[in-house]
Amino acid sequence: MLLSHLLWRAGIENVVIEQRSREYVEARVRAGVIEQGTSDLLRSLGLGSRMDREGFVHEGVTISNNRSPFRVDFKHLVDRVVMVYGQTEIQKDLYDSGVGAGWPIVFEAEDVQLHAVTEGQPFVSYNVGGEAATIEADYLAGCDGFHGVSRHAIPSDVKREYERLYPFGWMGVLSETPPVSHELIYSRHPRGFALCSMRNPMLSRYYIQCVADTDAASWTDQQFWDELRRRIPDEAASSMVIGPSIEKSVTPLRSYVAEPMQWGNLYLAGDAAHIVPPTGAKGLNLAFSDVYYLAEALSQRYSNGSTTALEDYGAKALRRVWKAVRFSWWMTTMLHTFHDAGDFEHRMQETELDYLAGSVAAQTAMAENYTGLPF
Ligand SMILES: Cc1cc2nc3c(=O)[nH]c(=O)nc-3n(C[C@H](O)[C@H](O)[C@H](O)COP(=O)(O)OP(=O)(O)OC[C@H]3O[C@@H](n4cnc5c(N)ncnc54)[C@H](O)[C@@H]3O)c2cc1C
Repeated sequence: MLLSHLLWRAGIENVVIEQRSREYVEARVRAGVIEQGTSDLLRSLGLGSRMDREGFVHEGVTISNNRSPFRVDFKHLVDRVVMVYGQTEIQKDLYDSGVGAGWPIVFEAEDVQLHAVTEGQPFVSYNVGGEAATIEADYLAGCDGFHGVSRHAIPSDVKREYERLYPFGWMGVLSETPPVSHELIYSRHPRGFALCSMRNPMLSRYYIQCVADTDAASWTDQQFWDELRRRIPDEAASSMVIGPSIEKSVTPLRSYVAEPMQWGNLYLAGDAAHIVPPTGAKGLNLAFSDVYYLAEALSQRYSNGSTTALEDYGAKALRRVWKAVRFSWWMTTMLHTFHDAGDFEHRMQETELDYLAGSVAAQTAMAENYTGLPF
């Protein structure tokens, strides 16, 4: 939807084909932390007013090691901040604006398939409401997430995949309770990682590291709260307000990159090409920077006929992607319990956190990455 906005603003016709209903997408709880560059981009498109009214600017985060907390002050270190504003809300703002402008969005498209990707006239076929339809286009943007079809259009002898599967997942709970802290708390603990996050003053988002194939339904709310409170600093544990969960789910953690991000007239963007564990809060932000580069390249192509930026799209996007993959891997490795780790790895984790707690240089590097590298 963001790519669609950027293209319409550049006067480039496009159609969004979405397999789900609008209601489904707007209710799919995911990201909550957006980088400064992402919120600036939304503002520049006239999509920032509700975000600025209802979102929360966070100037830092708390990191806790075995229940002992320290703060990393982004504002002070790099003069940048992040915004806490749900992906569901960004999605609503994008739909409201796109639907309001009458831009074509096909919802509930089934059996979406890409054709003639390397030929002059690619097209997409799908069924909607039992009717078959096709759309011809100059270019296809594969923005259909990790489980979409686009990436599979790149032949396996061309595609190179890089993957790290982490031996754990995150159990996330959404509850209509006041957040325990006005900023995020990232906790490393021998029992496993925990994260205290939020969506608004009466909506909290909490996560605990769990075994990857845990069935969320097999955990009672009370078990979740008890486990969470064991892993976070005392002060937060004792002041936390708990309540019934309104959503509980388990997310596997993986780092994954598929190269190239372009094949013929198909351009991949976002989770279709890469996945990061949510520890660094980078996934949505990477999808935004990818489509920003892609929209710029397509704008050049339609304004002066030059395809140079389109040819460079994949390489340019991947340079930023790999830095976010590195940062997310670093945060994950530093903060989670790895059951196959030996004494040496435990000492390395302890030392990494000790160094981060005491070094302005280390905190500056973290702040620079967390608030987002430029795009
Ligand atoms: C628990 C959790 C927490 C997260 N926290 C953060 C965070 O704090 N910050 C952050 O930046 N990121 C976070 N992320 C990651 C972020 O949600 C994703 O990286 C982001 O949604 C990627 O956007 P995308 O548009 O590439 O893919 P998606 O959001 O997955 O969108 C792809 C769309 O394509 C549709 N689709 C799929 N297949 C097809 C098909 N065949 N045909 C047509 N349509 C199709 C899907 O329905 C979907 O609407 C988190 C993710 C999770 C799961």
